[in-house]
Amino acid sequence: MSFLNHFAFRNPNREHLARHRSEHFHLEPRLSTAHAHGFQEKHLTIQHLQLAFHTTDADQYMARLVWPIDQFHSDISMAHSHIKNTVTYRFPIPRRCCISLNLFRLTIRPSYFPFHEGKLGGFWSELGAVFGIYIHIPFCRTACHYCDFHFSTQLDQLEEMEEALMRELLWRGTGVSEEISTVYFGGGTPSLFPEEGLERMMHAIQSISSTKKEVTLEANPEDITSEKLDVWLKMGVTRLSIGVQTFDDSILSWMNRAHTGDTAETAIRMAAEAGFQHITGDLIYGLPDRPAPAWERDIDRMLDLPIDHLSAYILTIEPKTALGHQVKQGKQNTASDEAVVAAYQTLCSRTQTAGFEHYEVSNFARPGGHATHNRNYWKGIPFWGIGPGAHGFDGTNRYAHVSNNRRYVKAIQQATSLLDIPLEVDVLQTSDRFNERVMTGLRTMEGINPEQLHAVYGRDPRTADAQAWQSAVLKRELIQLPNGSFRIPEDNWLFADAIASEFFWVND
Ligand code: SF4
Repeated sequence: MSFLNHFAFRNPNREHLARHRSEHFHLEPRLSTAHAHGFQEKHLTIQHLQLAFHTTDADQYMARLVWPIDQFHSDISMAHSHIKNTVTYRFPIPRRCCISLNLFRLTIRPSYFPFHEGKLGGFWSELGAVFGIYIHIPFCRTACHYCDFHFSTQLDQLEEMEEALMRELLWRGTGVSEEISTVYFGGGTPSLFPEEGLERMMHAIQSISSTKKEVTLEANPEDITSEKLDVWLKMGVTRLSIGVQTFDDSILSWMNRAHTGDTAETAIRMAAEAGFQHITGDLIYGLPDRPAPAWERDIDRMLDLPIDHLSAYILTIEPKTALGHQVKQGKQNTASDEAVVAAYQTLCSRTQTAGFEHYEVSNFARPGGHATHNRNYWKGIPFWGIGPGAHGFDGTNRYAHVSNNRRYVKAIQQATSLLDIPLEVDVLQTSDRFNERVMTGLRTMEGINPEQLHAVYGRDPRTADAQAWQSAVLKRELIQLPNGSFRIPEDNWLFADAIASEFFWVND
């Protein structure tokens, strides 16, 4: 059962909003349509509340809607960035709840609010009213031949970039009172960025919220010095993510990496000696023509180092990379599926022997070494994406910045507020969010809980396509956990995305 509720309101004038950046604008919604659909009833059994927004032109603004729900003594709040013309948003609310119409209000505010599902109670409460910050540092020393992340090897805009990142950060932080759970400096190569610039950004983050459980900084081995390590520790970095990829110098050269295997080992040991208690190393497997013993040496050498986390990714051939072109021209082989599966099995067994828990398809941790920031992504906790090429999630929609350093800096320089920053917004429907939850959940050892999915999204994958579900259980692509959740067993995890797609909610 769904309800369509229409609100008509004036599109706020942007200059007016810019002058009153800290004010709230309360508008009276027209409730006649809601009445017509029975919102006056005391108790409603609702699967989804559907709202339509009407604006008078294509201008952009941000809105926050708040629906107090008595039963939960809490608000359902929702943030939208860049709503254009008439757009319909759907979101799930508890199936049985009590709504007080006289408390219904609409608030428009010219700054960004993260949406916290934690305010909804039940399943959402487990997530906590927190959010994360991802800051993209878009510079690299060399262009690795396999990499299609956004970065530039031209380092002439470091100062302008810092100013732009800082402006965006402070704009997003205006008026925020919620807890920042995690901060992640990713890239690109954050270790290449001047330490003073990173320190200034951390100070700005401290001024927004002092509670941070985890602050991760990605570092490449060739950048790591004892001076930098001290600065990073002092500014509050709690976790270093060191891009090793392999210890084999000939492969590192083939990848166009700027370090050697020995440099990587030394960097990890230096980080541990400097006082970093959480260090993760990255490895890549599934490399073409690589004999199994070479991969085993990489794993063993990594596991001998003082790390508490390991990320191991299969080499992906991205079309717009040097490697992608070589493969397309037939100048480069790719690894066979059998070789990739064998490398994965070796990885699973050796990490297990070393005491690592395989908690996500590509991630392994010693006790206490799990990555909170990434786990929050997988749980659907909102995060700001700051910087060129960065992606963010407001709990409902995803947005992406332009993947171009000069255009990002120019856009921020010309902007007078967040509203002026051009973003590509992906408005997620309930089905999209369900699919993301299934996809990311099935990549983790916790798996997915059909009852929780039903409570949150109104869809139980066991019954939505009973045949697909039963077939997956019979084929042991899914196994049930004692708490009622289902996960993909480790030996089938390499096929997680294909298995998850069997349960996707596809709209006709
Ligand atoms: S893999 Fe890392 S260091 Fe290499 S180009 Fe990509 S972002 Fe830069």
